[in-house]
Amino acid sequence: MPHNIAILGSTGSIGTQTLDVISRFPDRFKATVLAAGSNVGQLIEQAVKFRPSLAIIADESKYERLRDVLSPLGIETAAGSAALADAMERPDFDTVVTATVGYSGLLPTIRAIRAGKQIALANKETLVVAGELITRLMTEASTRIVPVDSEHSAIYQCLVGEDPATVSKLIITASGGPFRTFTREHIADVTPAQALQHPRWNMGAKITIDSASMLNKAFEIIEARWLFDIAPERIEAVVHPQSIVHSMVEFIDGAVKAQLGIPDMRLPIRYALGDASRLPASERSLMLSDYAQLTFEKPDPEKFPCLTLAPYALNRGGNAACIINAANEVAVRAFLEEKIRFPEIFTTITDALEAIPFVESPSLEDYVATHRATIQFAEEHTGCRIPLHV
Ligand code: NDP
Ligand code: MG
Repeated sequence: MPHNIAILGSTGSIGTQTLDVISRFPDRFKATVLAAGSNVGQLIEQAVKFRPSLAIIADESKYERLRDVLSPLGIETAAGSAALADAMERPDFDTVVTATVGYSGLLPTIRAIRAGKQIALANKETLVVAGELITRLMTEASTRIVPVDSEHSAIYQCLVGEDPATVSKLIITASGGPFRTFTREHIADVTPAQALQHPRWNMGAKITIDSASMLNKAFEIIEARWLFDIAPERIEAVVHPQSIVHSMVEFIDGAVKAQLGIPDMRLPIRYALGDASRLPASERSLMLSDYAQLTFEKPDPEKFPCLTLAPYALNRGGNAACIINAANEVAVRAFLEEKIRFPEIFTTITDALEAIPFVESPSLEDYVATHRATIQFAEEHTGCRIPLHV
């Protein structure tokens, strides 16, 4: 019997790579639910090929086309973010790949956890926004998260067979993004086209901009804090421009374990879908002799001030990271639409942190309200609106 899987964000970079992995192991995996944001043409193509039981489009204006093409094939269809969250309770799958972008992953992931599904987590924003709540719900539902993010997958792999009490440090690698060698003045003038040119990874637009600002690394530190239940001061980031060492764990005896591989998300996706087991790769293998050197350097928070937001958010706690995430979602779009300059991504976030009320022990409703208030603040601040099908 194949393992049944729901993919949230099947039309994106992680979603399409997940379907590629599934297509290579048809006896092992079956895509039972496919969900996309608004790309109805691609969702239809995927549904025709993979024959899920259900295809969902978040953008309700695209529903009719989805239904008209897929109903004759016996594929159920639905539209809207509420339908997407409701689908997480269906009994016909047991693992959810969360590959939507931004805050949109939060509510469906919570529903999936409450329904006892295992989570293959790509959508790191879920843990950034509400890490404490999510980890509590995971414990209550006795289910678990297997990370898809390459750094966290690497750490997860390094921890196999180890006593968590013997971990002294997590070392998260960062490529440094396209502006690693730029001066601070030069970074102030970069264009969206330059920021979208990631040197190592081909990803969706939002995470590519987050990588350029290095907020992605700050998010990954927050993600690691919750995933591995480790004190923030024991998580460190190091810049490794070749992106071959995907992350490391240091143990109390001084040993450092690392996971290496070519930069290709299909490895962490396979590992997460296979429930932390090793499945054969289809991509080329790593030839270390192709790399004259593997280098490591300290990240520079003067050039990339977004890096400072990880210690800030983790020390402050409460809804601080939720504010950072929401302000960033608007700021990234505003930068892509050339309404703000690159350094204003950071200042939009810090202005939001000053403007939005702090909540020390947020409930789910508090997170939802914080997200909405911050989106509204940042939209007024930047003059940029983000599409709402959340
Ligand atoms: P993409 O932008 O490529 O894809 C996003 C997907 O989410 C698309 O299928 C999109 O649908 C869908 N989507 C967007 N908004 C909604 C919504 N409101 N409801 C339902 N679906 C929605 O992003 P990535 O694949 O790059 O990233 C996905 C997540 O994985 C992010 O959280 C990112 O940080 C994380 N991640 C990505 C990595 C990568 O290599 N790409 C690496 C590590 C983590 P549509 O296109 O149809 O609108
Ligand atoms: Mg990553």
